[in-house]
Amino acid sequence: MDSDHGLLLVLSGPSGVGKGTVCKALRERMNEIVYSVSATTRQPRAGEVDGVNYFFKSKEEFQQMIEQDQLLEWAEYVGNYYGTPRRFVEETLASGRDVILEIEVQGALQVKEKFPQGIFLFLAPPDLTELQNRIVGRGTETEESIRNRMAMAKAEIELMDKYDYVVVNDVIDTACEKIRAIITAEHLKKERQIHKFRKWIKEV
Ligand code: ADP
Ligand code: 5GP
Repeated sequence: MDSDHGLLLVLSGPSGVGKGTVCKALRERMNEIVYSVSATTRQPRAGEVDGVNYFFKSKEEFQQMIEQDQLLEWAEYVGNYYGTPRRFVEETLASGRDVILEIEVQGALQVKEKFPQGIFLFLAPPDLTELQNRIVGRGTETEESIRNRMAMAKAEIELMDKYDYVVVNDVIDTACEKIRAIITAEHLKKERQIHKFRKWIKEV
């Protein structure tokens, strides 16, 4: 990726770990980061707004998005489809702004294949009991969905090795500060800066 493109940040990890919560808190602290709104076939939860939380789609509409190559990645997760609209991400990165994707693990690994220069952050729970408490505490899932999500979580934690960073979401503020530090450090990498200094030297 060109050094004047924005960073592609991929925040992933098991359902219920707090991706949505941490992502929201991070955006409030770093309003220069652009959030990518996903498409899904899941039914909206109370309070969720089309175009803000997700683009809510029928299965047919989602299938069409896949066929027309409109998705950067997509995955089936606990009976529903989820995917990242490609064009918005590409255009925002090209305009120099950082984009954050908050997606599950299968999708994150697809993005890694296509965008290896992305920054892959695994948000981990303090432990599995706390993870279950958070899924139950959110009050949005049936018992069956909780069981499925916990089974998925164990498989997902195995895939942590594919990521660049692991951040434990114990306290929201602390997790956000760690992610902010990672973003700052990534921007300071020499590969993203050296071209500017070389240009100066050439001009002297
Ligand atoms: P995800 O997006 O990963 O599925 P959510 O952001 O919906 O997870 O969080 C799941 C539940 O856990 C929510 O009820 C949220 O308020 C709670 N939660 C998130 N982060 C923390 C944290 N650091 N400590 C305690 N509870 C948390
Ligand atoms: P939920 O139903 O709880 O909103 O989301 C279920 C899972 O799908 C979460 O882990 C969430 O991060 C993930 N997810 C949301 N959007 C996308 C997306 O565009 N692609 C993929 N692969 N996963 C997504």
